[in-house]
Amino acid sequence: MSDQRKFFVGGNWKMNGNKSSIDGIIKFLNEGGTNPNTEVVCGPPMIYLDYVRQKLDKKIGVAAQNCYKVEKGAFTGEISPAMIKDMGLNWVILGHSERRHVFGESDQLIGEKVAHALAAGLHLIPCVGEKLEEREGGKTEEVVFRQMKAIADAVSDWSRVVIAYEPVWAIGTGKTASPEQAQDVHAAIRKWLEGNVSADVAKSTRILYGGIRYMCVVFLPLYIVHLIHPTGSVTAKNCKELAKKPDIDGFLVGGASLKPEFIDIINARL
Ligand code: PGA
Repeated sequence: MSDQRKFFVGGNWKMNGNKSSIDGIIKFLNEGGTNPNTEVVCGPPMIYLDYVRQKLDKKIGVAAQNCYKVEKGAFTGEISPAMIKDMGLNWVILGHSERRHVFGESDQLIGEKVAHALAAGLHLIPCVGEKLEEREGGKTEEVVFRQMKAIADAVSDWSRVVIAYEPVWAIGTGKTASPEQAQDVHAAIRKWLEGNVSADVAKSTRILYGGIRYMCVVFLPLYIVHLIHPTGSVTAKNCKELAKKPDIDGFLVGGASLKPEFIDIINARL
């Protein structure tokens, strides 16, 4: 982590929670979730965005987990960046691996969403990451750089973009991303930004680490997942080690962002 880049911790709640459990999350965030050295943004499910925005400390940002690529129209089930802004929110996560691999979103669609969300004035967290077979086939950089290119071609203002690198690990393989492996890919992404965008953008853009339990999230309750495969997910246990790496500027946290340990992750650099 460089001093030039403010540490950033995002919580991606995915499709989890109800009003009562969300009240619990808001309580621990309002009591301990701010830190002047860390920018914190939470991503509740779409239907709770306004509920959370109203109750959460204003120092903590609120992000939608997805949006569509046009302002309005006959797109049943979608929301637009303009609607996110209208509700007083400034952030959106785009191209998360579950959007790519469960819902079939392509690089092209994600690029279009990036362009439109920026044009509408939002800040973005676009995600990139390879699947296990791609890593094992030596294709990590090829895949991540291809995803980066689709995003970078659509970016008009890098000051509103925070990249999340999330290796997509399959369940039951016993594989985990070590802090060194994560750092290697972060450094490669930064070098790619330097060569393909500019040295300034490479220096100033924050690159977050987020582990993924792709198959598990879909098929198994989280507690079984943790028993079988502790994964490369960010937790209170591994966050300090990861935060020491020079090119890791923060985290996009899934499961652990629903629990009080998220506060420890926000404070990982203290
Ligand atoms: P996880 O998810 O921390 O639960 O592995 C991270 C993410 O998908 O953003």
